[in-house]
Amino acid sequence: MFLSERLPARREITMADECVFCRIIRKEVPSKPIYEDHDLIAFPDISPVAPVHVLVVPKEHMVNLNEAGVKDVPVLGKMLRLASKIANEMGVAESGYRVVINNGDDGGQIVPHLHLHLIGGKGLGHKLG
Ligand code: 5GP
Ligand code: ZN
Repeated sequence: MFLSERLPARREITMADECVFCRIIRKEVPSKPIYEDHDLIAFPDISPVAPVHVLVVPKEHMVNLNEAGVKDVPVLGKMLRLASKIANEMGVAESGYRVVINNGDDGGQIVPHLHLHLIGGKGLGHKLG
């Protein structure tokens, strides 16, 4: 096998190894999970923009929605369901909240591991971008 044929797989492994959310999932970086199961982990954002700011993260490394395929539909659905459950538990279901997935540079994505932001506990206004 030529080296070039092996490069994509090697690059993928390196990315997940260094990815901060993969490191949180592996407990190499501390976080305070508020929910965890086989597929998902949820923890408070380190730099909250509102009284409630939780990240819901699939345990499987994928960069963003561009990499999500048909096989990922169940986990994407679970992310949304978990966001609404956490919103309820954190007391913002009635007052309202925002769910955001940033994708790529123009989308403002900083951490290249798919995640959903659950933001609430204050009026967020109507402006999106
Ligand atoms: P993005 O712009 O990629 O959608 O948002 C990434 C989010 O991850 C940011 O809001 C940032 O504060 C958060 N974040 C980055 N590193 C860490 C970390 O090590 N721990 C936690 N809890 N949040 C992080
Ligand atoms: Zn990752």
